[in-house]
Amino acid sequence: MQKLTKITSTIGPMSAPENVLRQMIENGMNVCRLNFSHDAKEVHAERIATIRKLSAEFGRPIAIMADLQGPKNRIGDFAGTYTDDGETHRTILKIGQTFTFDSNPALGDNTRVYMPESFVLESLSVGDRILLNDGKMEMQVTAKSPGRIDAVVIRGTEIWDRRGFNLPDTEVNTSVLTDKDRENLDFVLKHNPDFVAISFVQKPEDVTEVRNFITARTSAPVKIIVKIERPQGVERFEEIADVADAVMVARGDLAVEMPFWEIPAIQRYLIRACRKKNRPIIVATQMLASMADNEFPLRSEISDVATAAYLRADSVMTSEETTIGHFPVLVVETMSKILANADTDSIENSYDWNRVDNIPENDWSRSVTTVAYLNKATAIVVFDRSGRKSREISCRRPDMPIVSVCNLEIIANQLCLSRGVRPIFSEQMFTAKDVCAALAHVGIVGGKVVVVDGDDITMKDIECDV
Ligand code: PGA
Ligand code: MN
Repeated sequence: MQKLTKITSTIGPMSAPENVLRQMIENGMNVCRLNFSHDAKEVHAERIATIRKLSAEFGRPIAIMADLQGPKNRIGDFAGTYTDDGETHRTILKIGQTFTFDSNPALGDNTRVYMPESFVLESLSVGDRILLNDGKMEMQVTAKSPGRIDAVVIRGTEIWDRRGFNLPDTEVNTSVLTDKDRENLDFVLKHNPDFVAISFVQKPEDVTEVRNFITARTSAPVKIIVKIERPQGVERFEEIADVADAVMVARGDLAVEMPFWEIPAIQRYLIRACRKKNRPIIVATQMLASMADNEFPLRSEISDVATAAYLRADSVMTSEETTIGHFPVLVVETMSKILANADTDSIENSYDWNRVDNIPENDWSRSVTTVAYLNKATAIVVFDRSGRKSREISCRRPDMPIVSVCNLEIIANQLCLSRGVRPIFSEQMFTAKDVCAALAHVGIVGGKVVVVDGDDITMKDIECDV
C-alpha cells in the first residue's frame, strides 16, 4: 500500500542530523521546508547540502522549499522584572484600558510599547483589530496620530516581549519581502532551492515582486509557493493563484486572522480551486502537533491528515512536530500510514476520478487518465521536460502512480510536491525504450502502463525482467 499524497516536512534542530533526515526520506518525506523565520541562513545552507547529498545517495529526488518569514510584525521589549524563563518581561494589562503602540524605541510598560515597523502604525485605521500573541490578546484601535496608535484592550491581559502582531482588518502597505527576507532570498538562491514560499501574501503584485527578484538573480526556474494566511489573500485568491506556481493553506496564521471556524471551509475551497487551476496545494500546520511530545497521534489529528488526502490535496505538512519535536521520524512514518490508507480507499477512489466539477478544461490529460482507468493500469509513465504534463495528469488525481522521467534535476525535484507523481531525474533514461528501467527505478515490476511521450499516448502491457 503506497501513499500518493506527499509529505512536506519542516527541518529544524531535531530533524537536521543526517541520520534523522535519512530515516525521514526512507519513511516517505518528499519535500523539505526550511523555515527562515528561525535559524541562521548558513545553518539552512548546511541543511540543503545534507539533503542534496542524501537525495543523490538514494537516487530519489527530494524538493527543497525556502520559506521566507515575510512581514510578520513584532512589538518591542518591556521593562520590568524577568519572568521564570529569565528571558522575557511580562506585563499585565486590564480589559477596557487604553494601550499605546508608538515609534519610541524605549522599553514598554503597562501603558505603551514600541512598534518597530513604522508602516504598521501608518496602515492601521480607527476601528481595526490588533491581535497579539497568536490571537490570545485582542485590541481595537481608538485613535491615531503620527507615530502613535491608541487601542482599547478587549481580550487577554498578559503581554510580553516581541509578541507577534496580526492585523486581520488592515491591508498592510508594505512589500511582501522585508529587508531580512531579501537578504535571505539573495543568499538561498545561490544554494539552488526548488521552491520559494512567501508569507502573508495579499495581492498578485506580491508574487510578481518576488518573481522579479528571483529572475534578476538566477535563470533557474525556481517555483513560487504563496502562503494563504491573511483574509486579503483568501479574498483575492483566484488572482493570486493565477500568477503563483503552488499554494500553502497556512492554517496557523489563517486561524488567527480569520474566524477559526471558517478554516475548514476555506481549506476545501482552496483545494478545489487549485485543482481547477492546476496548482499544487499543501495543507499546513498542526497536522500531527501532539506528536512533538507523544509517540501516538490524537484521533482528531489522524482524521485531519486523512481529510486532506480525501480532499485530494497534493501534500500535507509537518511543522514543530519535526523541527523541535522528539519523534520526527515517527511523525513521517505515522503520516505515511494514514495517507496510504486514505489514498487507496477503494470506495473514495472509485468515485473521485475525473469528476467533472473538479478538473480543468483541457482534454488531453483526461484521455490519459481515462485510458489508465479503463485498462486498470498499474502506472502512468511520462517523459517530461518541463513538468507541465505530469502536473496536468496529477491534478486529475488518478489513483495509480505517475512515473515522471525528467532530464532536469530541478524539474524532477519540483514534481515531488505533486500528488501521485514519482519523479526520476535521469539524463540517460529519457526515451520511451526506457519504460522498464523507469518502472524498476521506483519499484514497479510491470503490467499495463500508459506511456506519454511527446504527443503520443500509448497503452503497453509489459513485463520487465529486473
Ligand atoms: P509559518 O506559516 O509557520 O511560517 O507561520 C505557516 C502557518 O502560518 O500556518
Ligand atoms: Mn504563518
